[in-house]
Amino acid sequence: MSQMRKDVFTGRWVIMAETTTVQPSDFHFKKFVRETKFCPFCETNEASTPPEVFAIRNPGSAPNGPGWSVRVVPNSEPRLRIEGKLGQRAEGFHDLMNGVGAHEIIAETPRHDRSIQDLEIHEISDVIRAYIARIVDLEGDKRMRYVLIFKNHGEEAGAHTISHSISHLMALPVTPRTVKTKLITARDYFAVKERCIYCDVLQQEQKEGKRVIAENENFLALAPFASRFPFETTIFPKSHNSAFSRISAGEVESLARILRDLLRKLDHTLGGPPYNLALQDRPFLRPRAGYWNTIEEDFHWHMEILPQIARITGFEWASGFFYNSVPPEIAARCLSSVADS
Ligand SMILES: [Zn+2]
Ligand SMILES: [Zn+2]
Repeated sequence: MSQMRKDVFTGRWVIMAETTTVQPSDFHFKKFVRETKFCPFCETNEASTPPEVFAIRNPGSAPNGPGWSVRVVPNSEPRLRIEGKLGQRAEGFHDLMNGVGAHEIIAETPRHDRSIQDLEIHEISDVIRAYIARIVDLEGDKRMRYVLIFKNHGEEAGAHTISHSISHLMALPVTPRTVKTKLITARDYFAVKERCIYCDVLQQEQKEGKRVIAENENFLALAPFASRFPFETTIFPKSHNSAFSRISAGEVESLARILRDLLRKLDHTLGGPPYNLALQDRPFLRPRAGYWNTIEEDFHWHMEILPQIARITGFEWASGFFYNSVPPEIAARCLSSVADS
């Protein structure tokens, strides 16, 4: 019989298929091949993007020229713009504000033919350092509440075919609803138990082991109990920490390692699946009486990797539930059996 599983962090239900084995070959995807047309994010084409807001560069190289390993530029077609006031207002019963925010593109490598999983550990570490630097900088803009970092890999996950390996960063004047749901659950759990719900779940999952995909000194990668998508994975820091931007230099490198390891396991098992990556961080701590008082103790940042194998259908839209054809215990068994590379 199938199972209905409730996600402890969001309260969301997932119908989990009865499957006891899967043939990863059923899901075999072709590697994402990028078109070789002109690309503004390739090295030497720097003049084709807006001026960079951040880059990790070779000593002596000039801004907006070659010689970088990671380069961050404003999106030339931003969904939100950095200029102007929020102008929060009401229109009858409705709330609205101006589309103020930041929308930046993080070029993860100067080379067009590389994906994250092809990079060296020090190169992936530079990408993580760029994420941190941008979050820290944008935290200074008092209009912003949240920085959302995500990545679309493969056409089915929303990447453009000519797309270079990039991440998106959006600074938002509001906290995203998915994060807010997690914050409320974590706060309520902490109010009763005085413990972090994520730390409790990680301890239990480590003990049971059946949903653990990979582990290193600082991070644990799990197939979540109520995974929404086949082969969904979440990376958690082992030590409690609410804010991604506070990870140590050593943690940056071990995050790069576990991320590359996971992406390579997915490629090995499923071909080259399209996926989305999303950082789930805490919002900026703005003074607001009685609001998120215990957030540093109750919330625990994490990174989700969501292979886009199943389509979102009328069922998901109508119910807010998900149907997952590959139980996480099976996904974990398939992925963890791939040797580290
Ligand atoms: Zn390119
Ligand atoms: Zn924790």
